[in-house]
Amino acid sequence: MFINDIKLEQFRNYEDQYIAAGPDINVFYGDNAQGKTNILEAVYLCACARSHRTSKDQELIKHNSDFYQITISYTNDNGSADTLSIQYLEGKSGDYGNRQKPIRLIHHNGMKVDKISDLMGLFHAVIFAPEDLMLVKEGPSTRRRYLDLLISQIRPSYFRDLQQYSKMLQQRNKLLKSIRDKNVKLSQNDQLMIQLDIWTRTLADTAASIIIQRIKYADRITKIASSALDQISSGKEKLSVKYKSTSGIDPNSSKDDISELLYKKLKTIVYDDIYRGSTSYGPHRDDLELFLNQEPLKPYSSQGQQRSVVLSLKLAELKIIQEDIGEYPVLLLDDVMSELDENRRSCLLANISSAQVFVTCTEANHVVSEMEAACYLGEDSHSYKIREYSFFEVDSGSVRPVEQSK
Ligand code: ATP
Ligand code: MG
Repeated sequence: MFINDIKLEQFRNYEDQYIAAGPDINVFYGDNAQGKTNILEAVYLCACARSHRTSKDQELIKHNSDFYQITISYTNDNGSADTLSIQYLEGKSGDYGNRQKPIRLIHHNGMKVDKISDLMGLFHAVIFAPEDLMLVKEGPSTRRRYLDLLISQIRPSYFRDLQQYSKMLQQRNKLLKSIRDKNVKLSQNDQLMIQLDIWTRTLADTAASIIIQRIKYADRITKIASSALDQISSGKEKLSVKYKSTSGIDPNSSKDDISELLYKKLKTIVYDDIYRGSTSYGPHRDDLELFLNQEPLKPYSSQGQQRSVVLSLKLAELKIIQEDIGEYPVLLLDDVMSELDENRRSCLLANISSAQVFVTCTEANHVVSEMEAACYLGEDSHSYKIREYSFFEVDSGSVRPVEQSK
């Protein structure tokens, strides 16, 4: 799929910007803090309904405005042309001091999309950004997010399970706290404990639907990411990825077995959970563990190793989405070309030979020569293809197409 044009209204530092994209490689260049990443962020939002930089939509609204709107038109590989728009209106103070909730309105080909889960799967994009390093540097939540966003883009039902799980978890935790506030140890026959047991059962069921998919995708990620790292490191490093469940689930278990095991685990720890007012086991606590040469990847492993592992994970994301949707997602490369050495660049480019690309950089000349050099290096993997570049100069929230070849 490829984007034809993008319209940004009151988004970040853009007031009202129209961008007619080229079908191949779109290079956005300009000084720092001009709005290059903001464009990629807007495109990514159309795929996942969330920014890769913040979970707060309010931050995306242009200062002194009260809404933002992003509209993209794109063409699928079957030739059909679609438009997608996301509008976000900030919450306002209503009558009698009530605060009205913020509103998010999504339209696909002019039709209202009621749920975010229905947005998933309409448009696909994969972003490579400096923030990706968090995948190896930070805790389990960034790796869970990587996995969740990857699966959700392909399986909207997975996203619905996640939403449902998150609601159930909140309810269960609320109930745990209200039992704790009674200040007496309730027996299993107490009404509140019976209610808790029902919540535990349904929570474990939804958790099992999530965990089984995560195990399946972790397996696919391992296969692709390990072969990518093999290529990047010329066979020197071995990567493996394992889904680590806090509840000690065997990866070969069936969904029913996972549900039963989790239910039993939560039952045995119920009084501890009441004491803490939170749920100890479940997909919200799990991790995607990374192993380099059979050892858990250390946060202090070398920068080069970390970058290679991250690139391998992102390439796995790209490949899996591409395999499952049967076409290339749009590729967003935020400032990454300059951070990768030639070998890693060629590995990246060897895997994206047909995708539409949006790339940001400070120097357009550099990025083109880096991409060209990497394409030549990747020639023996049949990746070389003459690419067509479109250039855009970004300056203080304004994007100007530049005709001349750089
Ligand atoms: P770099 O090369 O450093 O990565 P960039 O061109 O990618 O820079 P962006 O991150 O896209 O920069 O944009 C940063 C600019 O956007 C800054 O000038 C910042 O003040 C502005 N900005 C961010 N959020 C908002 C907002 N909500 N309203 C107005 N301006 C904003
Ligand atoms: Mg940037």
